[in-house]
This record gives sequence, structure tokens and C-alpha cells, in this order.
Amino acid sequence: MTVPAAQHSQVNDPGRVWAPVVDQHATWIAVNPIQGCPKRCTYCFLNERGQTAVPPTQLASAREAVDLLLNSEFYGPSRPVALYTWTDVMALPASRTHLAALLEEWVRRAVPNPVVLITKCRIPDETIAVINSARERGTTVLVYLSYSGLSREVERGIRHDAIVANFPRLAEAGIPIVHYWRPAFPDSAELETMCRVLDYAARYAACTVAAGLKVEPAALDRLAESWPELARTPGVTEAAGVYPRPFWEFIHRTWQRHPGYRCFTPTPAPCPMSSTERTRSAFSAARPAGSATPARSRSANAAPPPTPAARRPATMRYVPRWLAVACRKHRFRWSSKAVSWSSTRRRGRTLPLR
Ligand code: SF4
Repeated sequence: MTVPAAQHSQVNDPGRVWAPVVDQHATWIAVNPIQGCPKRCTYCFLNERGQTAVPPTQLASAREAVDLLLNSEFYGPSRPVALYTWTDVMALPASRTHLAALLEEWVRRAVPNPVVLITKCRIPDETIAVINSARERGTTVLVYLSYSGLSREVERGIRHDAIVANFPRLAEAGIPIVHYWRPAFPDSAELETMCRVLDYAARYAACTVAAGLKVEPAALDRLAESWPELARTPGVTEAAGVYPRPFWEFIHRTWQRHPGYRCFTPTPAPCPMSSTERTRSAFSAARPAGSATPARSRSANAAPPPTPAARRPATMRYVPRWLAVACRKHRFRWSSKAVSWSSTRRRGRTLPLR
């Protein structure tokens, strides 16, 4: 059983749209007992729902949230569960207290599902201890650290030094890290920035998951303030993700720079729209201003040529059990050159623009 959004109208704020506490997303089950974020990232889908720059609101206690999950029509014991995707759970003490209670409930009821937490805020030492306490009692917890090399004008209210500091702190605590690289804007698709982000993440994370910018129709004008080409490119609101071309090329060749490190990327093909003229023009238009690079050649911002040792794709020598489970459940696929990612639920509808 899920709680329909309409049921949350008791929360007295008509300007805010509420999601079901339990919902099935393309990659995982999402559990959102707290909704609303005090931060103001310009690309966040919560902007269109009145849920940015607001105090987080609790819609369900920890126990209620687990009840709702276990009774949900979407529930399956092996499905990964992402917690708090409609807020940043690390942003405020009250949210972190809720997380601690929820993980305690999770352990008490022996819920077997792997847990995913996503954040771009500092994770305090006491929350690291809470996560490790749950892990020591058998719960798999993956922390997605959202780090994309974006500016403070794009990620408003985010302290980027705190994001950077999270990596070694979690690694030292033995908590599995997934580097979440999403989205990219032309400013963050500079070679120097992309190399800095990748080199740093690869030191600490088990892998990178890269994805593009989702452009909802209502968000187009706002996003075009940071990326004007969006407003001039047909089809961007229909794509699952939009990428600056240098970023697209870079994330599909990270193996050249870090041969043993995996980067999960959207599958470049088969992609029903990629052969259309509209998509080709979208790719070209999404190139940074001033770039004269032909559509199919290496751009000025692309990764440098591989060293001889890096020419062959890396092979996976060891796959930790938690990562193998996550890959299977997230529908990651291995391909010969890089790891690609697709979702059977959305196949035919998702397409990165080039
Ligand atoms: S921190 Fe996360 S949830 Fe909050 S506004 Fe930024 S992207 Fe959205």
C-alpha cells in the first residue's frame, strides 16, 4: 500500500506538491517520509514542486515509513531502497535523527533490502557511526556522494568543501561510496573540472554513476539561464537526460584515464532517437559556445589520448558482493568498452542527447 500524494494535503502548504511516501522509481523503490529541502539547487526537480528552500516536513515516522514500505505493492525483499530522495537527509539535524530511527527500525525488523542514501551535504561523524552500526548488524548501506564540479550559483546553499571532505571520511569508516555525477552544465564540462572530479572520486569511490540533466517543460526557462542552448534545442524536454557534448565524451572514456575504475553511464546505443535529425541537432547545439568541433570528432575538451597501458578496457577482477547486488538490481550492464546502464522500465523513452 502506498500513501497517495493527496493524502498529504493535511500538510498546510498548498504551494508544495507531495509525493507518496513509498514509490517505485526507475532504479529503486523510493521511501520519502520527509519531504522538502532547505537547499536551492537550480536543476533540482523539487523546484517545480515548491519543495526547495523550505523546511523539511515529516510525513511519516520511522516506524510508519517501514510499515508503508513492507506493505507496498512495489515491495520485494531484494530491491534496493533509496531513502529521502525528496530532501537531502544530511542537511539538518532533525532529518538525520529520523534517519537514525529509520535505520534502527530497519535493523530491528531485519529488512533485507540494500539501502541507498544520496547527499551533497556534510555527513557528521555521529551519522557515520549510525550508518556503520546498521551495517555491522547486517544492513547493506550504499552512500551516493553527489559531486559534479558545479558552481555555487548552480548548487545554491551547498558547501562544496563539505562534499569533497565526505569522500575520505566515509572511505576511512569503510562505508561503500558511489560517486554520483549528475548533472553537467557547460561550465562544469571543462576538461580540467571533469578530470579533477573523476580523479578525486576514483580515489575513494567504488564506482561512478553519471547521468544527465532532466529538463521538465516547466523548468526549461529557469535552466536556460545557466545553459542558454537548452532553450534553442528542440526535444530537450523529452529526453531523459541532456549532456554537454564534452561531458558525454568524457564519461564514456573514463577507462582511458582510470583503467580499473568503473563509470556507469547511459547507453549511447541503441537509442531510438539518436539517429534522428532532431537529436543530432540537439547534440550540436548542446556543444559549448565557441566550440568548432565537428559532431563526430574528438572535441577540444575531450579526454587526452590513452596511454598504451590504458588502451584496452579494464576487466573486472573483483566485484564486491554489495556491488554485484546493486548492479543486478539497478539493471547495470557490462559492455566491452565501458559499463553501460539501462533501465528496462524506461527503455525506449530514455535518451541522452549528444
Ligand atoms: S540538495 Fe538535493 S534535494 Fe536539495 S535542492 Fe539540491 S538537489 Fe534538490
